[in-house]
Amino acid sequence: MKHIGILGGGQLGRMMALSAKQMGCTVATLDPTPDAPCAQVADRHIEAEFSDVESARLLASESDVVTFEFENISAETAEAIDEKLPQGTELLFQTQHRLREKALLSTHGLPVAPYRSVRSMEELHEAKEKLGIPFVLKTARFGYDGKGQHVVKSESDFAKLLETFEVDEYVAEKWLTFEKELSVIVVRSEKEVSVFPVSENVHENNILHLSIVPARVEDATADEAVALAKKFAEAINLIGTLAIELFLTQDGLIVNELAPRPHNSGHYTLDACETSQFEQHVRALIGLPLGKTTLLTPVVMVNILGEHVTALEEEWSTLSPRTKVHLYGKKDAKRGRKMGHLNILADSIPEALKEIERLGIWKEKVK
Ligand code: ADP
Ligand code: MG
Repeated sequence: MKHIGILGGGQLGRMMALSAKQMGCTVATLDPTPDAPCAQVADRHIEAEFSDVESARLLASESDVVTFEFENISAETAEAIDEKLPQGTELLFQTQHRLREKALLSTHGLPVAPYRSVRSMEELHEAKEKLGIPFVLKTARFGYDGKGQHVVKSESDFAKLLETFEVDEYVAEKWLTFEKELSVIVVRSEKEVSVFPVSENVHENNILHLSIVPARVEDATADEAVALAKKFAEAINLIGTLAIELFLTQDGLIVNELAPRPHNSGHYTLDACETSQFEQHVRALIGLPLGKTTLLTPVVMVNILGEHVTALEEEWSTLSPRTKVHLYGKKDAKRGRKMGHLNILADSIPEALKEIERLGIWKEKVK
């Protein structure tokens, strides 16, 4: 029986923990929030800040292996428990900073959007000059769900940005026109690598809304995304899980960003694949052979945000028998907060999308 420590107590930790417990592991989580989603299902909760190195050491001392469910762990904390982290710290540090992440991708020949580093007002002007409008300015650290991003689509947007600009580290990126957003999740152990089927992702207000699998793209495109993920995972000696967000543009696939952990766009695997991303992650950590990632059925994953909870409750008894409910145990249904998701299994994607439309929980029209 293995003892697993998870830095972070959110929904990704909770779903890792549920898989780990199924395989007989014990789970301890470190998170500052009482009753955090993962703490509700873990054997033990160390209630501490992520900057609390002593508490991280305690977690490590009680665990055979430690993993993380989010990437903003300080270097000090991660390095203090390095020997218990099979995933290492290097990829974690590279993906914590958008400029380092772009450099890593470029080093391995992966295409990224044209970008500039911005550390001053002067560099912001230079970025606009070189990239042209439209472009997006992203904070180099701590961004998620579109937070810390400014899209500049006109001269007046730029003037507004100048008024509010505060000196920090940013990356400015050319705003790309894309046909679709895709993602691919790859898990690697010391012995083998496995890739999950490519997901087609639809965002609303920069927050993931739908993951559609199989993605509605040509086979050659999906194959290329899978091959890219595999090659990259091997090149960087990945251990554990990596999610790669992609744009499908007229010029082919462009990498948007990386996440060194299971990802929202992989939640569909919980019910639609032979092995889920969480099970696979745990398998890689505890030395089990990796599972098969075969897709068993078409699926659409749809996120339940705070503003969708009441409507979900109203539709509760009408959900289709093939709709799998995942709720994360969060009490406070704030707007934009990820409360859960549904995996809608169906014989075809149009059928699953029709079910979403019928439910009417999400006001946006499904395209
Ligand atoms: P986050 O860390 O918040 O997920 P992303 O870089 O993935 O940040 O940006 C969020 C969303 O904004 C993307 O999923 C995409 O829809 C849009 N976006 C980000 N960068 C670009 C870009 N260069 N061109 C066009 N759309 C973009
Ligand atoms: Mg993203």
